[in-house]
Amino acid sequence: MNNYLSDLKQKTHEKYQELIQKEKVNQNAILASISLVQNEQNVILCSLGTGSKAVGLNHMNEQNHCLHSCHAEVIAKRGFQLWLYEVLSKPNDIDKYFEKKETKYSLKKEYKVCFYVTQPPCGQAQLFPESKIYGMSAARPFSEFFQEAENIPNCDTQRLRSTPANSKTPIQQKNPSFCCTDKIMIWNIVGIQGALLNQYINPIYIDNLIIEFREHFSLKEVFDIGKRSGKSMEDVLKINNKFISKAFKIKKPKIIYTRKNLFVYSPYHPNNDELNKRINKDINQQSLQSFSYLYVDSLGIEKINSLNGLKWGLAKKDISKLQFLPKIAKYQLFQKFKHLYEHFEGKQLQCNYRQVKNKNIKYLCLKLNIKQCFQEWSLNKTQYEQFQ
Ligand SMILES: [Zn+2]
Repeated sequence: MNNYLSDLKQKTHEKYQELIQKEKVNQNAILASISLVQNEQNVILCSLGTGSKAVGLNHMNEQNHCLHSCHAEVIAKRGFQLWLYEVLSKPNDIDKYFEKKETKYSLKKEYKVCFYVTQPPCGQAQLFPESKIYGMSAARPFSEFFQEAENIPNCDTQRLRSTPANSKTPIQQKNPSFCCTDKIMIWNIVGIQGALLNQYINPIYIDNLIIEFREHFSLKEVFDIGKRSGKSMEDVLKINNKFISKAFKIKKPKIIYTRKNLFVYSPYHPNNDELNKRINKDINQQSLQSFSYLYVDSLGIEKINSLNGLKWGLAKKDISKLQFLPKIAKYQLFQKFKHLYEHFEGKQLQCNYRQVKNKNIKYLCLKLNIKQCFQEWSLNKTQYEQFQ
């Protein structure tokens, strides 16, 4: 493991250094990457994301298909989906990474999926009572969107939470999507390929979740739906006593804690004693960065404005044009799906995004089962998914 772990970290950080080379940006941005490790040694960096901001509810509407969350984990995961579309568009690449099982493609067993993030994901993973570092802008339960005054203890592990915002942020400027901890918990059941790609490929699960983390307690339980909800595996995976699909499971990724990567200018660098004292402050400074980077292997980079979820540096006249949406916005990924559909089915897709998502009944049922494990759920965003 150690061999490829250092290689994987190095590849991620080298790519990030390459991205920021020409810009004076904070070296300590939160990074997340998804790599495939072939036969425990060959690291393929598929996608990389940076960032810790998300747009407010006020940016979300039926016309604006911006990226709702620009957290590093979300960017990396969407980037991975884009990477999958690239692979599926090239027959040689399909054979390299996938084998066909019955009607769908499955990732070959020789590849392990490694998800690497440079701090514990927002939400429950940052809300341990022992943790004094995080929590300045804590992820709050979704009930906040309905009754603002409710006083809910921060450490209630059974509640799902929204993306963090400062407690003083007005409700309209808060983001009603899941925090990253809860997203990863859900990806451990539905996979990271998404509902659309699941029509052609079996779920792809995170095998190793690698987190830069300095404390002495385990984060294992926060990504485990059984531990979080108290429900059984059957409650999650079965309907009327029958498995929804044998392809879905509750994956418990191996969690690997790793030390901070030491940049010369990093506050974590042992030589920077003075800066070391400011770690708390620094973590809050990270959230000041108002852009995100996306890197996808074979597609290059994109800079995203994380305050509005659009491409960085757009002229005002271009803001509402769909072709200027980030490559990983749902709208853009759907265009990729339409190409893939045409390629595989030999006909044009006539449905909108939501209708296609709803066609994957098994995925939908699984999501409903997960929803029933908890008292609350993210705000319903289906009205924003009616595009073609
Ligand atoms: Zn997050």
